[in-house]
Amino acid sequence: MKTWRIDGVPLALDEDVQLLSSLVAAILHIDGNHIDNLQIIRKSLDARRNRPPRFIYNLAFTREEDWSPPANLPAGVKISNVPAEPEPVAFSFSFPAGKQVVVVGCGPAGLFAALFLALHDCPVLLLELGGPVEERHGDVQSFWTRGILLPESNVYFGEGGAGTFSDGKLTSRVRNPYTVWVKKILVEMGAAPEILTDAKPHIGSDRLRKVLINLRKHLLSMGCQVRFHAKMTDLIIHNNHLEGIVVSGVEEIKSDQLVLAIGQSSEETYRLLADRGVELGSKAFAMGLRVEHPQEHINRIQYGRWMGNSALPPADYTLTARLPELNRAVPGTEVS
Ligand SMILES: Cc1cc2nc3c(=O)[nH]c(=O)nc-3n(C[C@H](O)[C@H](O)[C@H](O)COP(=O)(O)OP(=O)(O)OC[C@H]3O[C@@H](n4cnc5c(N)ncnc54)[C@H](O)[C@@H]3O)c2cc1C
Repeated sequence: MKTWRIDGVPLALDEDVQLLSSLVAAILHIDGNHIDNLQIIRKSLDARRNRPPRFIYNLAFTREEDWSPPANLPAGVKISNVPAEPEPVAFSFSFPAGKQVVVVGCGPAGLFAALFLALHDCPVLLLELGGPVEERHGDVQSFWTRGILLPESNVYFGEGGAGTFSDGKLTSRVRNPYTVWVKKILVEMGAAPEILTDAKPHIGSDRLRKVLINLRKHLLSMGCQVRFHAKMTDLIIHNNHLEGIVVSGVEEIKSDQLVLAIGQSSEETYRLLADRGVELGSKAFAMGLRVEHPQEHINRIQYGRWMGNSALPPADYTLTARLPELNRAVPGTEVS
């Protein structure tokens, strides 16, 4: 059997996903209305103006070796024999056996670094200055409703890191072979399987907290130690060699293997690193700006008279500016 890929198969909003098999069979003039091993690779929404929005599917399926696709395909539909599955990620990694790695920061970078190390049998100690997500949730609510700001438990700091109280959008705009691995882990931890195929995947705020709790339990079950309210406050360096770190100003932890996954908000920690002679490089300057619109307003502009159809997700849009005088474009920012 040979694997084929067909891109651009449209499905109306009210059509059931089960129809895909017979639709693909009809497009490819295959008898029997059935396609073997049909698998969704990607689902996106075509909401271009002045016509009904529709879903567009890229799919994979298998056929006998001697089958060949018809020459005439409907407009927008393409077929190729590219393998459906992305190349498996080769985890080539060697590490001094038995050495404990201290990972500082329990945001996405720290959590996945810890998991990656644990999968390679490294003993891991994961430290986070804030609290577990259950506790943090209450602290963030107190800030939003009563304005009580806890410096070490807020929207930036605590288990899950900076994006925990967003809706968990997963658009990274990078082509990285680990992307698929990360999404599969998120599904194993309780995210909806659709994040593997949706063109604009998101986890959802409530579900994201559960995913984080499951990921923590998973790390613990693999032998990782996870400590909250444990802030790295100093580095122990002798003769230009890292020997350990200080936690919460009092406790020394010996290890010369340190992963700093402290995000961008821990100004105090960056000052500490600079004071201790750690080489820091600056990134290109970027400025973020938040614009809020009523969701209904964006839905109306994007979906027009189809707004309100229960199959349609909340609409978003991309804001891009081209600056010919600077000969550059400002990267598009998704707004929703
Ligand atoms: C409001 C908001 C909404 C967002 N929404 C999205 C979104 O929908 N989708 C998306 O992709 N991105 C989103 N982002 C961006 C995303 O959160 C970041 O890109 C991501 O969190 C970076 O991950 P990180 O692990 O590098 O750092 P962080 O998430 O910042 O995690 C760093 C962790 O390190 C801890 N830490 C720092 N210093 C120390 C120390 N000295 N000792 C111990 N622990 C320490 C911090 O408490 C923190 O938990 C959002 C960001 C914000 C602020």
